[in-house]
Amino acid sequence: MNIEKMSDDKLLKSVLLEVKKEKDQLHIVLLHLKEIYRRRLFTEYNCRTLNEYCVKELGYTRGEAYYRVTAMKLMANSSLIEKAIQKGELSLTAAVVASDYLTKHPDKSVIKKEEVISKIARMPISKVKEILSRPPSGPKYPPKNEVFPKLKVSKRVLELLSQLQDLTGEDQTKLLEVSLENKLKQVKKCESKAIQKPSPTQSARSRYIPQVIKRKIRSRANYTCEHVSMRRGRCTESKNLEFDHHIIPYSKGGKNTLENLRLVCKNHNTRQFVLDFGPKSLEKITRKS
Ligand SMILES: [Zn+2]
Repeated sequence: MNIEKMSDDKLLKSVLLEVKKEKDQLHIVLLHLKEIYRRRLFTEYNCRTLNEYCVKELGYTRGEAYYRVTAMKLMANSSLIEKAIQKGELSLTAAVVASDYLTKHPDKSVIKKEEVISKIARMPISKVKEILSRPPSGPKYPPKNEVFPKLKVSKRVLELLSQLQDLTGEDQTKLLEVSLENKLKQVKKCESKAIQKPSPTQSARSRYIPQVIKRKIRSRANYTCEHVSMRRGRCTESKNLEFDHHIIPYSKGGKNTLENLRLVCKNHNTRQFVLDFGPKSLEKITRKS
């Protein structure tokens, strides 16, 4: 293609075609990133995040990676937003501005996302910034210390609070807060005791991993993630490590043995889940939480 020798007419037609190709290409790249994220494939390069993978493995700058990952997440679960990106009606910059705006908004639903994108599609970035700089509307969270109007309490609770207030002279809200904190402490104490000392009647099929097995695995792993990726070798993560039923998953009858368990970081545990049960199962769990 010799651009310098093109006629004016051909040059103007050609640029339209190339811009369309460029927009299509961006859309295709975002679709690839979406699928890589679904499969948590970036963990096979021992990258903690998709952003990190985009920088280290795809050669994007940190800014370029951030813009692409943000746009990809914005279009996830919405064919309307995906089409707006594909047609070039929503630029990467506008997607990032919209995403910033939406993170501050209490309504995180797809409908709200689409409503915002419909408002700013095809607009120049200055106009997008102007529209989205207005404070978001919607339900406000109650300010600190304000009583939730929908909290229903029984007569007995009011009686107890009143008696306690008479005896201590303390504010009722404070008394309620202290009682709840004490109850929470009590429950947490019971929970940690149960973890440390399983009851003798505990079933053989239990997720409980004996402390002695945990200690041996941690020592075997040298306190780092034991995942070995085909592309980048052993992971070196030492934070937020979890025990993973590696060879046979727990739900498929996997046992709490040294051979079946391994110490892994959160990312590699999630990746293993995708390998065992597929990305759809992960999406279901993520949606519920
Ligand atoms: Zn890892």
